[in-house]
Amino acid sequence: MRRHLNLLSNEPAETLLYTPEPARTAHIMTESFIIDARWIIPVVPARTCLLDHAIVVRAGRIESIQPSQGARADNPDLTAVNLPTHTVIPGLINAHGHAAMTLLRGYADDRELMDWLENHIWPAEARHVSPAFSYDGTTLAVAEMIRTGTTFAVDSYWFPDETAKAYADNHFRAQVCMPLIQFPNAWAKTEDEHLQKAAELHEQYRNHSLVRTAIAPHAPYTVTDDGFIKAKEQSLQYNVPIHLHLHETRGECEDALKDSGKRPFKRIDELGLMDHHLQTVHMTQLTENEIATLASSGAHVVHCPESNLKLASGFCPVGGLLDAGVNVCVGTDSAASNNNLDMIEELRTAALLAKGTALDPTTVDAHTALELATINGARMLGMADEIGSLEPGKAADLVAIDMAAINFQPMHDPVSQVVYASSGHQVSDVWISGKRLLDEGQFTQLDEVALRQRVQAWLERMQA
Ligand SMILES: [Zn+2]
Repeated sequence: MRRHLNLLSNEPAETLLYTPEPARTAHIMTESFIIDARWIIPVVPARTCLLDHAIVVRAGRIESIQPSQGARADNPDLTAVNLPTHTVIPGLINAHGHAAMTLLRGYADDRELMDWLENHIWPAEARHVSPAFSYDGTTLAVAEMIRTGTTFAVDSYWFPDETAKAYADNHFRAQVCMPLIQFPNAWAKTEDEHLQKAAELHEQYRNHSLVRTAIAPHAPYTVTDDGFIKAKEQSLQYNVPIHLHLHETRGECEDALKDSGKRPFKRIDELGLMDHHLQTVHMTQLTENEIATLASSGAHVVHCPESNLKLASGFCPVGGLLDAGVNVCVGTDSAASNNNLDMIEELRTAALLAKGTALDPTTVDAHTALELATINGARMLGMADEIGSLEPGKAADLVAIDMAAINFQPMHDPVSQVVYASSGHQVSDVWISGKRLLDEGQFTQLDEVALRQRVQAWLERMQA
């Protein structure tokens, strides 16, 4: 969604409700075990579903995937997690969001975009956004994402030092994007200060096992040419991606054409940003030439179907992009414009919307939809050798979906059932790097009671 103009207050950081948990990452031991599942969808190799197979995990990595009986016999030292009615898929990758805005879920709905932003969201942010807001809101988002099968979030919000800490504290993978915007705000006053703070956070997390960084110039209409050029230099210096809202609405393109004589895409291309480091978000307005340029440049597209629908922003031509060879991923955008972070629902919406807009039911089939939310996300992140599929050597980022319920019967095709008949509510178990974060629907380390209390305090504060 379009957001982040000059609306944050310069008030001192809020500390009243801020009670960060001590860092837990150092205490988490990666584990070794066998997952014995009825069905496994590895995503790679493509269009595969394994029946009665097991995933052998050692020290947080997938060692092998083999028939269940052999796995148990070959690894008598390992305990087995029995999942007799479950389908195991790779952890889902939410390729775009603003996690802390989960605290604004349902705050203002069903409004025209600029009314929603200017009269509701931005004023609320101006009053409430602080380090504590970012930490608590991100923790709330992490809880929802774990509960619904997401194991990696791409996140862009104010106080990224706090959001990064929230991810690290909860053993959750993330690409934390450093915001860059030309207007002064509570995080930084100038584009140069944004970039300086980004460099500091890059240094802090450059060797972190779960949290990565990126630079996020907000959008063409909020960042100067100089800002984009410096962002590109910093991206090359640190070898990190650039994450950018681009062509979210027709109005964005029309305004730029009127003001500068060129579409935002052309400006970004001319500034030298259009390459495999660039992660473009939304892209509802694309010409055939722009699609061809995207394909030849290696730039990625993040499709946010439910946010685009809710804000009536337009339709990303996913089928055409995939046909052209562009890497397309899926993101929820923020819970303020979605209104949940359920990636299973999101990939289903992506599939249905692609069919509807192409008038072709073969566009984005079930396997492809799952790829958008897994291996394609990993490719965008430059992590396709680490996550995004269930293959020996990769990290054990695993999601189990319990398919015993009546709404899954009969099980003709587990891939179809996951994509077209399930939601995050059927997720039972989640592992990140071999650490079980969700055990039969229960958080293993996240303190849900304390989190609910903090969220309630924010609700009362915002309603005061
Ligand atoms: Zn966004």
